[in-house]
Amino acid sequence: GLRCGIVGLPNVGKSTLFSALTNIQNVAANYEFATIDPNIGIIDVPDDRLDILSEIVNPQRVVPATIEFVDIAGLVKGASKNEGRGNGFLTNIREVDAIVHVIRCFDDVNIVRSVGPVNPVSDKEIIEMELQLKDLESVDKKIGRIERSAKSGDPRAKAELEVLKQYKATLEQGKNARTLEVSEDEKKAVTDLFLLTMKPMMYVANVDEKYLHEDNSHVKALKEAVSKEGANIVKICAALEAQIAEITEKEEKKMFLEEYGLKESGLNRMIRAGYELLDLITYFTAGEKEVRAWTIKKGWKAPQAAGVIHTDFERGFIKAEVVKLTDFQKFKSEAACREAGKLAIEGKEYVVEDGDIMHFRFNV
Ligand code: GDP
Repeated sequence: GLRCGIVGLPNVGKSTLFSALTNIQNVAANYEFATIDPNIGIIDVPDDRLDILSEIVNPQRVVPATIEFVDIAGLVKGASKNEGRGNGFLTNIREVDAIVHVIRCFDDVNIVRSVGPVNPVSDKEIIEMELQLKDLESVDKKIGRIERSAKSGDPRAKAELEVLKQYKATLEQGKNARTLEVSEDEKKAVTDLFLLTMKPMMYVANVDEKYLHEDNSHVKALKEAVSKEGANIVKICAALEAQIAEITEKEEKKMFLEEYGLKESGLNRMIRAGYELLDLITYFTAGEKEVRAWTIKKGWKAPQAAGVIHTDFERGFIKAEVVKLTDFQKFKSEAACREAGKLAIEGKEYVVEDGDIMHFRFNV
């Protein structure tokens, strides 16, 4: 599965958040949680559309989409220089597909910070600098490796070297690798490096519960700093999320949320933001046995999307019958949708859209 790594300086609320995540009922029941790394949580993606479908179809079971979160603790100032521990954490970050950066935006004199008074913008910069320094090291290493062949006239090495130098300059200016504008082809010069600052990033602003409905100065400053990146900021109160996660009863949870003027938990918002950050979308299958959400990458065509269910579906793909959720809601069944002319027959080139209800036809 695709993974979001949760990073942040010490004492910003990462563990609180991660344990809330793994505590919610959401933790995918289909997986043997005990057999995997305790720092990895496979989390159900909350999706109202599943409820809508289930109500209509009344299936034997409902299977949501899942997403993985990894708790990557231990990133501190100076980590990139630290041969020991710090570097290990950076290796863990290399293995994730996207980064969730938790930033402390709550004031609490009892919770110490190793890096002075609460300052989200500086926290963001500290973490980013560590990631950039690590990337710089990777880029430099590769430059060292190919420099000789570039000098001796190898055209490919020469072209790669040019691109690598651009990345080097970008990182040296304190910018993230992902901000450098190069062609897809040029980008290949660094794909083997799995640069940390190339990964998509979102921010979780951890605030006191009293600032959930208005922004405090920390959040305002963070929003300002992030605005140019176009990155998503999810504001939550980790301490409150930990409490919410402990409530198992649905109605009770709803009442608790209402008390705080919330429609849903911050974790739900965060999980969905993570799913989007990974560039994922969902299509559904809706049968009486099972209503299920399937995860694909944005832009996938029907056969590839079918392959997520079974490789045979992809290999033997004939066509897909596609119904839009709003039509399904209106007509209540695939057959009724067909009769109303709301069932589209799509071929190999169809690009699956988020929320499509799919029925694949295939040869075995
Ligand atoms: P980590 O080092 O980033 O994993 O941080 P922890 O999750 O261990 O949290 C550090 C401390 O901050 C703990 O004492 C938490 O109880 C506290 N904390 C976490 N989230 C919040 C919050 O939203 N508000 C307040 N006041 N304290 C929090």
